[in-house]
Amino acid sequence: GEIIQLPDIDPSLLKISKTTSPKKPLPPSKLVFGKTFTDHMLTINWNSANGWATPEIRPYAPLELDPSSTVFHYAFTLFEGMKAYRQEDGTVRLFRPDMNMARMNRSATRIALPTFDGEALTELIKRLVVLDSEWIPKEKGYSLYIRPTLIGTQNALGVGPSSDAMLFVICSPVGPYYASGFKPVQLLATTKFVRAAPGGTGGYKLGANYAPGVVPQAEAAKEGYSQNLWLLGDEHALTEVGTMNLFVAFKKPDGTVELVTPPLDDVVLPGVTRDSALQLARAHAKGDLVVPGLPEKLVVSERKLIMADLVEAEKNGTLVEVFGTGTAAIVSAVDKIGYEGRDIQIPTGPEGLGNIAKGLLDRIIAIQTGEIEHPWSVIA
Ligand code: PMP
Repeated sequence: GEIIQLPDIDPSLLKISKTTSPKKPLPPSKLVFGKTFTDHMLTINWNSANGWATPEIRPYAPLELDPSSTVFHYAFTLFEGMKAYRQEDGTVRLFRPDMNMARMNRSATRIALPTFDGEALTELIKRLVVLDSEWIPKEKGYSLYIRPTLIGTQNALGVGPSSDAMLFVICSPVGPYYASGFKPVQLLATTKFVRAAPGGTGGYKLGANYAPGVVPQAEAAKEGYSQNLWLLGDEHALTEVGTMNLFVAFKKPDGTVELVTPPLDDVVLPGVTRDSALQLARAHAKGDLVVPGLPEKLVVSERKLIMADLVEAEKNGTLVEVFGTGTAAIVSAVDKIGYEGRDIQIPTGPEGLGNIAKGLLDRIIAIQTGEIEHPWSVIA
């Protein structure tokens, strides 16, 4: 039969209805992560017969959904997390939005929700953040956390592809993660729970991956640890740290430092920060770029890491740094890992952040804020 191309997201159709009761942005010092939202949101409906409908920017407000909507029953929901930064002159920048759009489309494919033109959604996100840019404090370290979300809205029970969907984007101004100095995190290496399994959904940013992590996190907190170190399999392979990707640095006998992150292998979320850290560290290792703070002799590997490797490195004094990477904190040092009844101690340097973590943090922030010009930073 004839192949009918349904309409994709079309930014030229955008309808904007501005709020008639703008809120006053909170003073920067009062911001709590994810609790304050800007005046507007973006919504775009989809259905299987007509494709993507008119994009709308409208006042931030509750959604009205039928209780039978697939999102409420079978977790047809996925999301992204990205940030916008505002410079002194008012310029607003996004960081690698193409990566978030690609990941969002991969997540959508995994749960049979509709895909879309990532450049078109980026264009609409730019319109939204520019409209609400007064909400982004200009002070150093502040940014706008952007949460694109896609949900299944079919009004009928029954597990199957959702005939209807809604994409929405909301924005939350956030303060500096390290307002009062770098705070290393303590991890509990958990063998009782798994976050992701081969063939499962851990490599996708689905809502369904997150609720089951809350009880393990609370159990870790009860034992005095801040987050879980997620392991996999009988060898206790390391995968991720809470909701961050994991990096471990080892010193080799010839003085070279090896920076290791576990391979994605369908169990690790392909983090935008992970990819950025890998690219910067690899460029430094090759000599194409000097990232201050990174060791002169550096090799970068994506390879399997098991808990026995960490235990041995601690014993030999070759464990240099452990840190997590993610959009919220960018990098977060780890100073302790509880494992099989004892704690593995990890050096973090005098400021609470090791040299590699600090070097990558500084470089990524400089790119995000436009201090260093880089194609990763996209003007809205
Ligand atoms: N792993 C998980 C499970 C996450 O939820 C996140 C946050 N999105 C990350 C890693 C880090 O990804 P990113 O660098 O894209 O924020």
